[in-house]
Amino acid sequence: MIEHTSIAVLGAKESGVGAALLGKLKAKEVFVSDFGKIPDDYKNELLENNIPFEEGGHSFDILVKQDIIIKSPGVPEKAGIVKQLRAAGKTIVSEIEYGAWFYSAKVIAITGSNGKTTTTMLVHHILTESGLQVGLAGNVGTSFCKYLLKEEQDPVVVLELSSFQLDDIHQFKADVALLLNITPDHLDRYEYSLDKYADSKLRVFENQTVKDEAIFNEDDPLIAARIERIQGEPSRIPFGGDWDDLNSNLKGKHNVFNIRCAVRIAELMGLKRDQIQDALKSFKAVKHRLETVAFVDEVEYVNDSKATNVDAVKYALGGIEKPIVWIAGGTDKGNDYAELYAEVGKIKALLCLGVDNEKLKTSFTDKITIIEEYQDTTKVVKRASEIATSGDIVLLSPACASFDLFKNYMDRGEQFEKAVFELI
Ligand code: ADP
Repeated sequence: MIEHTSIAVLGAKESGVGAALLGKLKAKEVFVSDFGKIPDDYKNELLENNIPFEEGGHSFDILVKQDIIIKSPGVPEKAGIVKQLRAAGKTIVSEIEYGAWFYSAKVIAITGSNGKTTTTMLVHHILTESGLQVGLAGNVGTSFCKYLLKEEQDPVVVLELSSFQLDDIHQFKADVALLLNITPDHLDRYEYSLDKYADSKLRVFENQTVKDEAIFNEDDPLIAARIERIQGEPSRIPFGGDWDDLNSNLKGKHNVFNIRCAVRIAELMGLKRDQIQDALKSFKAVKHRLETVAFVDEVEYVNDSKATNVDAVKYALGGIEKPIVWIAGGTDKGNDYAELYAEVGKIKALLCLGVDNEKLKTSFTDKITIIEEYQDTTKVVKRASEIATSGDIVLLSPACASFDLFKNYMDRGEQFEKAVFELI
């Protein structure tokens, strides 16, 4: 912990408000500052707790007077206020770091470009089903700081961490850390440098000691190239090789990998194989991740709205052996669709669902016979139902962010579900 009596928090959503509430208990003075408009539910939390705040801009003069600056993961390094505060020599820490100052029990930290939520929920499910008292926090829902507001600490917490949450950690340490994979994503936040993004992911192993465990995907070249560089000598536990030999309710070989990692973590926590097996049986796909919505006229409709990058779609398509009517598109994040060409043989039709579908269309012209464009979920699902025949799969796996037509990926997945139910 860095000694302090006052804190300023940048960003006022789940993480920022969580840090402010924890700060209210731990520091003498708290001030919250958001560049945009603070959503009403978060604003009410600040008001109810008498925490001073500002929105629609940052007051450098107030912020610079606080001992410590806590940065929400949503605030980019290139934000003017961050640059100004750094130039003024202020200590800036992430919300995860701040939480760690007030937490002394065990941490299982999970990061990666894809599979974080699924694996985090799986680990939490296995441990709780086996009777352990376990917390769940981070990127998965409740922020770490908000989770720490409860009176009694759980003996262990499972934390889903994004790269943004790992930036600006200083003393945070995971007892067990898992790095699933690194594929291009969010590069706009890392000066378009895959190296910088990868380095940030490796920070999940920062501060680990010989007593800790570092689990990683040894087949991932970006991880393999960096793993020897980690300091502190935790036990390195590589995972890789053939992923095809495990039965579960989850689709796709990527999930075999996620399950293997989760099982290993459960073993490290002292659980036996049979307890783990029982818990695995009752775990269902997390919503919007290769989730079967319904069968209509012997066609399976699968919602993979959370597949917002090409790698996630590669695993979705790769895991399906049946003919696919593929619904994709949205806000492109610099995608390279050539990565998917090996899978096009099973795609009957590509139905684009986005405002600007040009890149997607050109990437697959001559490769997929039917390519059409839609801006309406009901229409696209209706059309998919006309093309698909018995035994086919209609897959929403967009490879893109959702903000052009939808509020977020959940909204997109829910509209898809609704449209499927309308077919029945
Ligand atoms: P995250 O929290 O990292 O975004 P999710 O568990 O929410 O990960 O899954 C996001 C998308 O990535 C889904 O489409 C899912 O099917 C896919 N996915 C899950 N695990 C993996 C993995 N190990 N490798 C590649 N893709 C994955």
